[in-house]
Amino acid sequence: MKCRKCGGTAVLELRRHNAAFCADDFQEFFRNQVREAIRRHRMFTIDEPVLVAVSGGKDSLALWDVLIDEGYRTTGLYLDLGIFDYSVESRGKCEAFAAARGVPLMIKRVEEEVGAPVPVIKQVTRRPPCSGCGLSKRYLMNRAALEAGMPVVATGHNLDDEAATLFGSVMHWQMDSLPRQSPALASTHPKLVRRVKPLYRLSERETAAFAFLRRIDYIVDECPFAKGATSIAHKEILNRMEDASPGAKHNFLFGFLEKARPAFERAEAVVLNECVRCGQVTTGTLCAFCKLADQVKRSV
Ligand code: SF4
Ligand SMILES: [Zn+2]
Ligand SMILES: [Zn+2]
Repeated sequence: MKCRKCGGTAVLELRRHNAAFCADDFQEFFRNQVREAIRRHRMFTIDEPVLVAVSGGKDSLALWDVLIDEGYRTTGLYLDLGIFDYSVESRGKCEAFAAARGVPLMIKRVEEEVGAPVPVIKQVTRRPPCSGCGLSKRYLMNRAALEAGMPVVATGHNLDDEAATLFGSVMHWQMDSLPRQSPALASTHPKLVRRVKPLYRLSERETAAFAFLRRIDYIVDECPFAKGATSIAHKEILNRMEDASPGAKHNFLFGFLEKARPAFERAEAVVLNECVRCGQVTTGTLCAFCKLADQVKRSV
């Protein structure tokens, strides 16, 4: 197998691109895909500070690595979910990465912010752990960015994550999720920062290869609650389709973004209010995060 760029020995074959690359040219390919994502969706400029949400996994640390090397002014945000050893280990990976690269890392503990860690929230709400966890993460990322005066939060969602989310939304025809499925969500309220996903053009396998080649020390174990998550089942289905027909995931996601998404955008914009308690954005009067915190307070 020869590198498409230099003709040297290839280390990775990318079937969906009908190409193979040596280690150096693969890294350049990876960076180019991130540059293209940022440019195409005007995610941020070199003058804007970017808050990078890091979990300690390969995707978010690979993203942070690229953005630092590209010269962006980044701060990491680690949300400590309080999920047993998984959180202890993943926090350690983020702290070590930040220290080695000399970049600032902000840490917020869900236990402090909501009143209980994710495993307790799961018990209190009697809902799947990812429900309270996801809500808290979205809320805390936005609030942390606002408080730090940063206009944008970047997350490490990759092509596989995005295709699996889209698959789930389509399976249930979640009409409110479909228009929000985008590599870049604009700020629609002064208290909402932009949310961007610069890795949406890169597969999980590609970010794993990049992290390996860059010698990034990341947490390999998944969150223990990920096992039962439907997103994992959706990823498996999509992987089977990808095996049979390379490029299937890419076509599914990109076809939606380019052709179908505009049709799902709601004609009238949703009215956004400020939560009477915390001042963050909500469609009602008390935001979902404050309701969750109340529920936790009543039960623990
Ligand atoms: S798998 Fe679920 S509980 Fe675990 S970090 Fe992800 S969203 Fe949170
Ligand atoms: Zn090469
Ligand atoms: Zn609130």
